[in-house]
Amino acid sequence: MIQLTKNPIIPATLQSDAVSDELEKLQAIVDNGGQPTYKDFKSNLYGSDDVRTQLLNDQHEKCIFCECTLLDKEGGEVEHFRPKTGCRQNDSKGNTVKPAYHQQAYDWNNLSLSCHACNRRKSTFFPLENPADRFNMKAEIPLLINPYQENPADYIEFRQAKLFPHTDVDGSKDEKGHLTIKYLGLNRKDLVEKRRRALNKFINAMNRQNLSFDQFLQQEVQDEINDGRPAESIEHYGMFVNQKYKF
Ligand SMILES: [Zn+2]
Repeated sequence: MIQLTKNPIIPATLQSDAVSDELEKLQAIVDNGGQPTYKDFKSNLYGSDDVRTQLLNDQHEKCIFCECTLLDKEGGEVEHFRPKTGCRQNDSKGNTVKPAYHQQAYDWNNLSLSCHACNRRKSTFFPLENPADRFNMKAEIPLLINPYQENPADYIEFRQAKLFPHTDVDGSKDEKGHLTIKYLGLNRKDLVEKRRRALNKFINAMNRQNLSFDQFLQQEVQDEINDGRPAESIEHYGMFVNQKYKF
């Protein structure tokens, strides 16, 4: 998981009258005491081609959470950071709050692309530091990392191929880091195996050339700039930066 920058230009579809009409319909359902369900949301709007294309570009064609490539998975799934049909503070039964963030269903700042595995795990989880603040957008402090709004490295770190939340001096785990890893399954078996392979490849290449981490990274970046692929190394090897003195 790396920090991302979202293009500030909102895709045209999300600014269309069709979106305004849909938001009115959703609000009418809620005002009449109902709860919007999946069929009440238009995936051809929040998942339109212009939205997907811009998100793929902003995310370097990778899942926002686990960073697996999305190109071979039909471009990934459009993910709502604030869930649109129902939201949960934790995994105890019966605590789903409905209606949820239906007004953010077509909000550019609420959308990203994720792989199916991350999207399925995240589901309706949206824990807050203080659940009493829910739906007060100015007060809400989410306990899930949003790579478009903050630097994941402030909350989580790699130790070899596994992710861990930062720990305080008193040994307590960072809650946001902990819940992000837990609810997104960021230490699932296939991810750990892929990271282990990438890490070994990286260390072997570095050792073969007898270079320090910084020298090797610099060389990789230069090679990629020369090849017209600027800064891919920073992203590809960025996950190892936190553990560069722990090889
Ligand atoms: Zn993923």
